[in-house]
Amino acid sequence: MTGGTIVDPADNYFGPGAIVVKKGKIAEVIKSKKKDKGDIDASGKLVCPGLVDMHVHFREPGYEYKETIFTGSQAAAAGGFTSAACMPNTEPTIDNQETVKFVIQKAKEAVVNVYPIGALTKGRLGKELAEMDDMHRAGAVAFSDDGSGVQNGLIMRRAIEYCKMLSVPVISHCEYNDLAEGGVANEGYIASKLGLRGISRVAEELMIAREIMLAEYTGGFVHIAHVSTAGGVDLIKKAKKKNIMVTAEVCPHHFTLSDDLLETYDTNLKVYPPLRTQKDIKAIKKGIADGVFDVIATDHAPHAYDEKQLEFDYAPPGMIGLETAVGLVSTELVRKNVIDWLTAIKMMSSTPACILNIPAGKLEAGAPADITIIDPECEWNVAEDDFKSLSKNSPFIGRKLVGRAVRTIVGGKTVFEI
Ligand SMILES: [Zn+2]
Repeated sequence: MTGGTIVDPADNYFGPGAIVVKKGKIAEVIKSKKKDKGDIDASGKLVCPGLVDMHVHFREPGYEYKETIFTGSQAAAAGGFTSAACMPNTEPTIDNQETVKFVIQKAKEAVVNVYPIGALTKGRLGKELAEMDDMHRAGAVAFSDDGSGVQNGLIMRRAIEYCKMLSVPVISHCEYNDLAEGGVANEGYIASKLGLRGISRVAEELMIAREIMLAEYTGGFVHIAHVSTAGGVDLIKKAKKKNIMVTAEVCPHHFTLSDDLLETYDTNLKVYPPLRTQKDIKAIKKGIADGVFDVIATDHAPHAYDEKQLEFDYAPPGMIGLETAVGLVSTELVRKNVIDWLTAIKMMSSTPACILNIPAGKLEAGAPADITIIDPECEWNVAEDDFKSLSKNSPFIGRKLVGRAVRTIVGGKTVFEI
């Protein structure tokens, strides 16, 4: 692979070079101008370590009509991702060794690497810790009750302590149910105007504050998922200044879309945590620029067409995100000078790989040949028919984006190409 710009965040390298792949592994990375002829000409393109999405919902077992591990992996490949970690809110819940094993078995047929995340509590009910040790031994890379916050502080404390012992991250979905009051949109002007029940920002921020304090108190490590508010950015920034072991993740929809779009009543805009205001987007972007956020993850959440054809109140929350992530990062962050490509790729490959402790995110001899080629200038329109995901619930359909993954290579094999 020659002619492209090598982007290697692990080595802080952004420049010319070539990659030699042998038997599914990277044999050599040449970081110099020397021109060789290769099988793949990547001229004008970025050659990156395969992207890692540490927050997706592949819906199997239980909701195969929305997405399967196989179709989800195809969507991941089409988005430039070579590894994805899937959340446990399936039916049955991934809260035991057998279900972890089932996911790992299914992952063998997937076109990208798929890693299971186990539930923190049995049935994700927040009452009793799940068998984390067993699940970890079976291959769970992290633990989370994603989809809902763990309401009980003592349970969360024990979970953090347990995960500390296992040296795996706790991923926290921050939301207090009693404060969210069954809301469906950001509490504020737009929600009142449209007659939608509001979710206050304090419902999210109070739990972020709790997780930070618990991480400090226990010496454990917590990864805060999908931060949506300016106040959340602030809390994490302060925690990091105190060297508390927290990392934070942001989703493309939270730095791109604000709640005033809800005037369309498009149920694809219903997500948890909800889309907030322009002010929050500004703070989130500032947080990304300042390094408050470690990871960009999609929270890819497929739902069938008729499920989203309900009133806003009743439609399930979530939008798909794997196939639009690179385009949104490029269009909204890199082209608007929030961050450069090196930082963007770091947040989408080496850092999530490091948090999950999985063999990814590195361009070095001996590493699996998981490589993503991005055309940063590719102009394209998001089209429903192009989605590889089994579901099409994206509010970005029809949007023009600049920048796209054009080739995805997993273990030396091309699994997606435009
Ligand atoms: Zn999620």
